[in-house]
Amino acid sequence: MTDLTTPITYLPGVGPQRAKVLETELGITSYEGLLYYFPYKHIDRTRLYYIHELTADMPFVQLRGEILSYEEEGVGRKRRLVAHFTDGRSVIDLVWFQASAFKWVKRSYQVGKLYIVFGRPNVFNGRINLPHPDIDPADTLQLGTMGLQPYYSTTDKMKKSGLNSRSLERFTSTLLQKLDSELSETLPEALIRQLCLMSRDRSLRQMHYPESADSLRRATYRQKFEELFFIQLNILRYARLRQQQVRGHVFATVGQHFNTFFTDYLPFELTGAQKRVIREMRRDMGSGRQMNRLLQGDVGSGKTLVALMTMLIALDNGFQACLMAPTEILAEQHFATFREFLRDMPVRVELLTGAVKGKRRRTPILEGTRAGEVQILIGTHAVLEDTVEFRRLGLVVIDEQHRFGVAQRARLWKKNEVPPHVLVMTATPIPRTLAMTLYGDLDVSVIDELPPGRKPIETQHYWQERTESLYRGIRTEIQKGRQVYVVYPLIKESETLDLQNLEMGYEELCQAFPDLRISKVHGQMKSAEKDAEMDRFVRGETQILVATTVIEVGVNVPNASVMVIQNAERFGLAQLHQLRGRVGRGAEQSYCILVTKYNLSKETRQRIEIMCETNDGFEIAEADLKFRGPGDLEGTQQSGVAFDLHVANLARDGQLVQLARDTANRVLDEDPQQNLPANAQMWARLHELNRNDIDWSNIS
Ligand code: ADP
Ligand code: MG
Repeated sequence: MTDLTTPITYLPGVGPQRAKVLETELGITSYEGLLYYFPYKHIDRTRLYYIHELTADMPFVQLRGEILSYEEEGVGRKRRLVAHFTDGRSVIDLVWFQASAFKWVKRSYQVGKLYIVFGRPNVFNGRINLPHPDIDPADTLQLGTMGLQPYYSTTDKMKKSGLNSRSLERFTSTLLQKLDSELSETLPEALIRQLCLMSRDRSLRQMHYPESADSLRRATYRQKFEELFFIQLNILRYARLRQQQVRGHVFATVGQHFNTFFTDYLPFELTGAQKRVIREMRRDMGSGRQMNRLLQGDVGSGKTLVALMTMLIALDNGFQACLMAPTEILAEQHFATFREFLRDMPVRVELLTGAVKGKRRRTPILEGTRAGEVQILIGTHAVLEDTVEFRRLGLVVIDEQHRFGVAQRARLWKKNEVPPHVLVMTATPIPRTLAMTLYGDLDVSVIDELPPGRKPIETQHYWQERTESLYRGIRTEIQKGRQVYVVYPLIKESETLDLQNLEMGYEELCQAFPDLRISKVHGQMKSAEKDAEMDRFVRGETQILVATTVIEVGVNVPNASVMVIQNAERFGLAQLHQLRGRVGRGAEQSYCILVTKYNLSKETRQRIEIMCETNDGFEIAEADLKFRGPGDLEGTQQSGVAFDLHVANLARDGQLVQLARDTANRVLDEDPQQNLPANAQMWARLHELNRNDIDWSNIS
């Protein structure tokens, strides 16, 4: 029996050099790696077309016929070799553009001989032609047995080493022939029967060389399910273990802090969603198990207040609470917000950031925290330093978790014998399927309701050149007493250029509005300087704030009613939505202006359209997932989660994620000790996967 762990070097036709390329380029080291490297598409090679049937939008077509003559056309870079090709009824041009190949083409494909030509139709000067077709002598190809031909993704480096899709096709076909005995099953028999899944052996073979479109579909379904199932099985197993083993502080009462705040200090009614979420958390924190909850809510939905009230429950039970923000500006803002909400309530709140130093840091803050006198500590990751010791830390709230690594979160738990309850807040809506997969062991609460009286933000698209009407709009708003953000993109690769852009924009605004005061903030400024400028805007001393994305997260200036985003084409959907959330916090009508250049790709236009159409963060997140794919989402990258799906697609396979999760839950219910003989091969597979590539501990 052939062992799937056999190094790929041993596959006939591969050898050490190509094995190396396969490893570095595709991560394939073993037979198994190759077997699971699935084609990205198949092309039906059973059907022949006539030339007159072709249309420009056909993906790939095959023709049978002969070359009538060759001709070289055009000059310089437009030079091309054309073969006039006929199927006996009409004529089409086969075209090559690489001058170096001309001689070789003419030598290889002779006039008057019968060929099968395979390529993608293209339109040139109103006529259809076939650029760079694959050509085989008609007598060597047996179309009937070729069926659906697999196409594998390759990289430039691979092509340079002579490895293309065809080579991979040869490798996989060699491998499948070598695998003469049936590949062992990884899922329990009963499960396969219930879900009508194709067997592992058959599905792996069909993934590469399907008998029909239908059997390819069923094979893909099986592989997707299996992939998602093992992810869920692992997350849920881990979550159950933690539920059983990790105790949590019991917050049995809701007492004076909470009640006083609720009746005497809360300046408005809570929304229904806020109430529900607080109830959900009270239940968690009273259960004796550690709370691990993700709180999602669109920008401005009132998460901060929910966090504060949850902390008051911790205080009521004699515990301290801590809030971590990703930046100093945000930490300060939370601190100010808390103080404002709490006014003269006897609750000691302190702020700890890198900027708080010396005696002030040591005495009131660090000692106060150690003694338990500081009841709520707000800070940046400075609160994680070893010098910070709590007497009785009961609850940690992490704001905008994407910027906090998972490792940092884990450090929090290590500090205490009984870990504090953890609430993670994020304003970047995560589509359900992704949340289930990334944060599958966190319970999720959603605030899906905005406080009343908010007017939906109106979003408009402006071309770069239309500055006049843009400035008119800005002036109108400022005359009404409002403030305006103007945001510029900034990415590392083009930092110098981006900053120049911002400076130029700033100068332009200063000229256009000589009577106004304008602040400027970007990441290259010293943090004291930056804070001072921010402060001036927050206090209303300046009317316009020109900034890079430093203001993206959390900053709250209710009087600001216009968000102008320059070069909006360079931002992703999630980021645009975040930025837009900076306005619309007061009762006034607010505007978001997306300024772009004229020349936009189709996808960018769609992004801008979605932004103009909807304010719903979840809708935007779903669209974002579809555009970019999950690997690209800000959240997944920044949280450092190892995340690599082979076949499944979280954007398209939402229902399958749910099925995988439900099934995994059922399996765990039935086999809590993980020792049922019927499941032995499944558990073995899970351990194998864990050993191999995925660092599951990150997914939590
Ligand atoms: P988030 O953190 O979710 O972005 P915030 O907590 O900053 O939202 O809330 C945005 C604004 O709405 C704040 O000014 C806050 O005081 C206010 N707010 C929160 N909850 C309510 C409510 N139930 N009714 C009215 N205003 C609210
Ligand atoms: Mg917030």
